[in-house]
Amino acid sequence: SISQPYRGRFAPSPTGPLHEGSLLTAVASFLEARVQGGEWLLRMEDLDPPREMPGAADDILRTLEAFGFAWDGELRYQSRRLEYYRAVLDDLLREGRAYGCACTRKEIAEAGKMGIDGALYPGFCRNGPRAGRAPRAWRLRVEAPALISFDDAIQGVQAQDLISQVGDFVLLRADGYFAYQLAVVVDDADQGINHIVRGADLLDSTPRQLYLQQCLGYRRPNYAHLPILTNAAGEKLSKQTLAPALDKGRVSELLWQALQRLGQSPDSRLRGALPTEIWAWARENWQLGRVPRLAKLSEPVFGAM
Ligand code: GLU
Repeated sequence: SISQPYRGRFAPSPTGPLHEGSLLTAVASFLEARVQGGEWLLRMEDLDPPREMPGAADDILRTLEAFGFAWDGELRYQSRRLEYYRAVLDDLLREGRAYGCACTRKEIAEAGKMGIDGALYPGFCRNGPRAGRAPRAWRLRVEAPALISFDDAIQGVQAQDLISQVGDFVLLRADGYFAYQLAVVVDDADQGINHIVRGADLLDSTPRQLYLQQCLGYRRPNYAHLPILTNAAGEKLSKQTLAPALDKGRVSELLWQALQRLGQSPDSRLRGALPTEIWAWARENWQLGRVPRLAKLSEPVFGAM
């Protein structure tokens, strides 16, 4: 087979400003792409207006620039791609791979089946919505064999049984928005992304994405899931846990710290150096194999340095 040139990406959701956790993903995905002589694309995953924060997308772009990131090609906004997601969903519906579901959250919860993401869909509408009910959401039909495994470049071999742990999952939500799982798979394939470096909070989503890729006849990218930065309470840094925005006045310090957290042991003489010097060192010395495998990097440990 012809080996494709490396193409990676960073795909932030504009639910809030970038924080120290998202910086790890940006730094690692960027450096890995550069060290492999590849491209690094930027995609704004602005697909979920109810969760978005006005101005966050522009703030993310300004922050990436301030930190010295340069992306290849055109920035893509998922909000401008709805007709493509629609076309893919229509294909899946035509092939009987997806179906409309009329169940409410309450009905699903009452069925009492649990999966990794909470209540597991009991399949009531698999053979068509129940009499007299209109579909609210659209789901992918998950069919055996659905034991999905992959070899993550950082976390090692992962396996998940989609039937017992996930069930038929949503592609188009009841509120009318496309699900992340569908959009990310369509765009990664459409943009020719063959290496995905992202946070381990998405490790559980990866089997769904692999299954969907299989249904759509897409190539399977390689995956590397980074450890997650958590606060003192052990929660993932996010808008919900009030993670502070990256301070554009502390670029050098924060870049050094990100490299340290990513296991790269940056030279201590680089502390306080110009960002360009830190980047130059990082591009020379980056090794994905040094990234700690721990699913969670807790802040206080590093805060004590
Ligand atoms: N937009 C997702 C997030 O910010 C990341 C998607 C991905 O990397 O696959 O959590």
